Amino acid sequence: MEFRQSSKLNEVCYEIRGPVIEQANALEEAGHSVLRLNTGNPALFGFEAPEEIVQDMIRMLPQAHGYTDSRGILSARRAVAQRYQAIGMADVDVDDVFLGNGVSELISMAVQALLEDGDEILIPSPDFPLWTAVTTLAGGKAVHYMCDEGADWNPDLADMASKITDRTRAMVIINPNNPTGAVYPREVLDGMLDLARRHGLMVFADEIYDQILYDDAEHHSVAVLAPDLLCLTFSGLSKTHRVAGFRSGWMVVSGPRQHARSYLEGLTMLASMRLCPNAPAQYAIQAALGGRQSIRDLVAPGGRLHEQRDRAWERLNEIPGVSCVKPKGALYAFPRIDPKVHPIVDDERFVLDLLLREKIQVVQGTGFSWPRPDHFRILTLPHADDLDAAISRIGRFLAGYRQ
Ligand code: PLP
Repeated sequence: MEFRQSSKLNEVCYEIRGPVIEQANALEEAGHSVLRLNTGNPALFGFEAPEEIVQDMIRMLPQAHGYTDSRGILSARRAVAQRYQAIGMADVDVDDVFLGNGVSELISMAVQALLEDGDEILIPSPDFPLWTAVTTLAGGKAVHYMCDEGADWNPDLADMASKITDRTRAMVIINPNNPTGAVYPREVLDGMLDLARRHGLMVFADEIYDQILYDDAEHHSVAVLAPDLLCLTFSGLSKTHRVAGFRSGWMVVSGPRQHARSYLEGLTMLASMRLCPNAPAQYAIQAALGGRQSIRDLVAPGGRLHEQRDRAWERLNEIPGVSCVKPKGALYAFPRIDPKVHPIVDDERFVLDLLLREKIQVVQGTGFSWPRPDHFRILTLPHADDLDAAISRIGRFLAGYRQ
């Protein structure tokens, strides 16, 4: 008897944790040390969890052994609601907040609750691939709108408009963006929201990097810009508080909920089907949001993340045939490899060859629904000197690389 994976998975792909990982594991088992620049996990690069969060979790642990309300504990949902009220989402309250085992779980619930088979969601290219994967798994169609590298990776509004059909139900806005590091200016967001308004689309705003901003980048939450649209805003503690392993995220519903009663009932049902998010991680939220926002020191000039972002960007641009738009936010750079200088036809092969030769693991651009094999994503999480060394090795590898 052979057990085969469901055909529902046939079209689903998720490269960040894909086949290259197995090869990296095999190398490590054989005694090599692999520099893993593939997942945005701050803990792997010496970022510690803020002490006050850990202490609060420890303090609350004896009371955190039971199931909670399926949407999450009240104190944490109140802290989340207050955070968004403070930035201008006046009508958000605790009932609009759902906590989750990371934003990932909530993305999956939000998409599943919405889609009929064949319904479409507008998702950026390049994307954070979970959005595409869960849309496909839910029977929907991920329709990718292009982001324009020549315009700071801002979404191409004309392309976006041309891809709206009568099956389009929602648009995904990832801002600050993974993998490009773009932070969208207000007028670009207004343009996207206008499209959502004209075509009656729900807005999924993935803002998990909203506090990871460099230089003078300013973040605008779309739910604040568009109180007239049904928005689901996603964020959590994984990145800004460097506790990705706690699995602590939230989703906030805003806008005209009266037109979304059935959808919200669906969401509430899905929330209760997972019983509740991990309880100890929920207790971290109030402490995290009420405490010192140490992320600000890390992203300010002279801060560790700021310095690393600079170093990665400078060194990548020094490699002949490689160019990189300066990331304004988040934890990644998404450089371009000029096909005239290095004609790569299969970027997964490129990533695998880099891994085998240099023991450095990055993710191929096509893993982010990017249509051509001419980009890769690298983390800006390692120490600046480690980034220097890694990027020099990537340059050396590319210089002699032919496919
Ligand atoms: N959204 C974006 C854009 C991400 O980059 C990530 C993780 O890398 C997530 C969501 C998921 O985060 P988590 O499930 O850890 O909250």
